[in-house]
Amino acid sequence: MFLIQTEHGRIILSNEHLVVVGGVAAGLAAAMEARRRAPAFDITVLEKTGDVSYGACGLPYVISGLIPALERLIVHTPEYFRERHQINLQLNAEALEIFPAKSSLRVRQDGAEREIGYTNLVLATGAAAICPPLPGHDLAGVFVLRHMRQARQLLAYMHERRPEAAVIVGAGYIGLELAEAFAHRGLRTTIIEASDKVMSALDGRLRDRVVEELRAHNVEINFGERVVAFEGHGQIERVVTEQGRAVEAQIISIGVGVTANAALAANAGLELGASGAIVVDAAQRTSAANIFAAGDCCEVLHRVSGRRVWLPLGQPAVRQGWITGANAAGAQPALRYAGVVGTNAVKVFDLEVARTGLSHSEAQDAGFEAAVVEDEDYTRAGYYPGSAKILTRLIHDQRGRLLGAQMVGREGVAQRIDVYAAALHVGLTLEEINRFDLAYAPPFAPTIDPILRATKSSGQ
Ligand SMILES: Cc1cc2nc3c(=O)[nH]c(=O)nc-3n(C[C@H](O)[C@H](O)[C@H](O)COP(=O)(O)OP(=O)(O)OC[C@H]3O[C@@H](n4cnc5c(N)ncnc54)[C@H](O)[C@@H]3O)c2cc1C
Repeated sequence: MFLIQTEHGRIILSNEHLVVVGGVAAGLAAAMEARRRAPAFDITVLEKTGDVSYGACGLPYVISGLIPALERLIVHTPEYFRERHQINLQLNAEALEIFPAKSSLRVRQDGAEREIGYTNLVLATGAAAICPPLPGHDLAGVFVLRHMRQARQLLAYMHERRPEAAVIVGAGYIGLELAEAFAHRGLRTTIIEASDKVMSALDGRLRDRVVEELRAHNVEINFGERVVAFEGHGQIERVVTEQGRAVEAQIISIGVGVTANAALAANAGLELGASGAIVVDAAQRTSAANIFAAGDCCEVLHRVSGRRVWLPLGQPAVRQGWITGANAAGAQPALRYAGVVGTNAVKVFDLEVARTGLSHSEAQDAGFEAAVVEDEDYTRAGYYPGSAKILTRLIHDQRGRLLGAQMVGREGVAQRIDVYAAALHVGLTLEEINRFDLAYAPPFAPTIDPILRATKSSGQ
């Protein structure tokens, strides 16, 4: 192996073959970063479907009709990677087995199997939506949404069968986005959620705001009710809950969670965490030599709890991909991933809902003696038209250190939550946040922004 430092400070390695498994956010970020740092590398990306480089987060907006076609979500075509960046992108190529001892992979493509060697391997196999094996889960019209292929099938079904009523199983953020999407399409929409929370963290007044918004747009939501069966004749007709209630629907979207695609790694003897996702160190190295992992298939350090957790989200996937690509290309010193604080935002009709850090129960589970404060304030100066209320919940420990934040309101939520996310990254107390000098002008914020006011509610 040769190491050549160019005049631009780039490292060129030759006689190297980097293989990346998975062609969406993390995989292509890794391949592109490796290419940038190592122009002489042979880089192969294996993607088992026919779709690469697209924004999965936009799928609900194609289903709603806001974005007219799935193709709009494509960031770059396969030719872009092949011709502009000399990345050997292989579609419909599934990695079936890894042989770490001989640094090779068994791959199936177009019905034929072959073995390919690697010097470094990046696993970016992502996650799969969970489809609970309930009676009738295989009826036509029952969907999980995770990748482009499933969205294509769902859209074709809607076009062909013209459903009038939809049931969403699970009130996670994807379930909420899909409820809005189906309602926009004019379907009678019902969400059935087994817990008493939305987005797995929001309860109480914050949850109630989301419920009011859904009901104002004719979306029904039922908490504490578990779906036990899907019924129909070849095609879905109704959902049955454990209370014996039947809800008529011609289309179902199951959004009860996702699971890491880690079987390939596990079968090769790589260490998995308690979550079932791949264990990596800060440099995204797995337990096997020359094998890295990035994105939704692996665990990540949670900066608030200090634990390694599984938190599958888009921005961390891309960032981990860059770090992995750099390290697989031999970056010295190795780049390290700083970890996540779990920041996530969702639009529910005209409401913005966001969370970062730990919820109260998550904080308690992580061993914190956690307390909660809530505050409701306006988003603009009192005299300025168009102001809206924003409801904030902060979770803190006994020293006043911020552990988590949740916000619901009609404007400025998704950006305001980022201030708390930044505070969580560096471990600030509510008192320290209260001293921030934040932007003020009547159209954007009151003199003392709701971010600051909420920190005062604790009396710290
Ligand atoms: C509807 C929806 C909305 C979302 N909205 C948001 C949002 O608003 N904000 C946010 O942060 N995140 C959001 N996400 C999550 C985000 O899309 C994911 O975190 C991100 O796509 C993860 O990227 P990844 O590359 O790790 O995995 P994936 O996107 O899952 O890609 C993995 C790829 O690997 C391929 N693969 C798997 N196994 C093999 C194999 N053995 N051989 C070859 N190829 C293989 C798969 O086919 C897949 O294409 C959303 C996801 C969905 C589904």
